[in-house]
Amino acid sequence: MSTVTYLAKLGELTLKRSNKREFEQRLTANVRQYLKGLPVSVQLRAGRMYVEGPESAAAAIEFTLAHMIGITGWARARVCEKNIASITQAVYEEAREAQAAGAKTYKIETRRADKGFPLTSYEISREAAGAVFDSGILQVDVHRPDAVIRVEVRDRCFVYCDKHRSCRGLPVGTGGKGLLLLSGGIDSPVAGYRMMRRGMKVDCLYFHAWPYTSAEAQQKVEDLAAVLACYGVSTHIHIAPFTEVQMRIKERAPEAYSTLLLRMCMMKAANLVAEHIHADCIITGESLGQVASQTVENLAVTESASERPLLRPLIGLDKEEIIQTAEEIGTYPISILPYEDCCVLFSPRHPVLHAGIQEANRLYAALDADGLIREAVEKRCVKRFAAAGRVMERFAGAETPQPLTVQQ
Ligand code: ATP
Ligand code: MG
Repeated sequence: MSTVTYLAKLGELTLKRSNKREFEQRLTANVRQYLKGLPVSVQLRAGRMYVEGPESAAAAIEFTLAHMIGITGWARARVCEKNIASITQAVYEEAREAQAAGAKTYKIETRRADKGFPLTSYEISREAAGAVFDSGILQVDVHRPDAVIRVEVRDRCFVYCDKHRSCRGLPVGTGGKGLLLLSGGIDSPVAGYRMMRRGMKVDCLYFHAWPYTSAEAQQKVEDLAAVLACYGVSTHIHIAPFTEVQMRIKERAPEAYSTLLLRMCMMKAANLVAEHIHADCIITGESLGQVASQTVENLAVTESASERPLLRPLIGLDKEEIIQTAEEIGTYPISILPYEDCCVLFSPRHPVLHAGIQEANRLYAALDADGLIREAVEKRCVKRFAAAGRVMERFAGAETPQPLTVQQ
């Protein structure tokens, strides 16, 4: 069975000198976690990650690298013998492939990590370029080439083109833990993804108001959590029944304040869940001015109900920017499904736009809802989604994967 080799470039890790080792270890562990149970080797050497496995694991490896936070890009590499004839042949084949994909110009960049190799980087590039030049398939352009063919001379030789971008950011698990308030909308999944990209491990909390919200609405949120897990290694989604709390607000609060009070109740509940799961902060998909509950005064009221820091990674983004990310990460088609996660019954016609904290606190106290909130948290159910499951679906190998021996 032929072996496939992938090279990935690490992101910001290289900047973070003091934590570099911890970050690298976390990244390697994350990649291994995605590919758990598959006959794949993952190694990190000299700022590059090498992932190797049988051809049958190619789709699983590609899915993993495409969703891996902490790497900037990846490519499938040709591995060739350490002599100039093999390197030249591999560069030629890579050039042919680039041409077939539409490239007209190229350049070669060589890194000679093995200083014992008889030719210098410049000489290697020159020799390999000669073969491409003779065939006439691509023209050299050192300034703005369509394709950059890279040659790395290490323990073996790797030849590859920079093809695929990945998520960048810091490896998940290096930036604490956050609890994301996940609704079925467009914003909150993007907010979760943004924090994952800063290295945060993210769990989710969804409030449903059955029978006012439907089973489909909940399914939609679970599907969103499953997509987020593809970036975040894994995620737990806590699903808490909030109907009683919502009814209490409807009974006891002025209509104009109902959304804001619901936000405060959500914050209280989120802090209880955060305590259970040892989360350091709460994350929401709020963005300044997007809806009535997101004016600066109302955001201040919501925040005042949280003991833990409240992170709002989308606060300064406009809807178009948020949608762009949602499309990139694959949550958008799920978010725009029609099932609403809130009910018009609970939505005020004229919500308060500039609430005062004191007034909001007075109304919150009048709700006497702390017991109901605690109960909702106690009654929550928890589901877990892991990236590894999605990866395994893409593995077309034998039922019992054979261990792989990798040349060092
Ligand atoms: P989204 O698109 O994320 O639903 P939105 O623009 O619709 O956001 P709101 O409905 O005001 O805004 O919600 C603001 C934030 O409150 C959401 O981004 C989310 O983090 C949280 N939130 C709202 N509804 C729920 C819910 N049912 N369960 C959990 N969190 C929620
Ligand atoms: Mg919403």
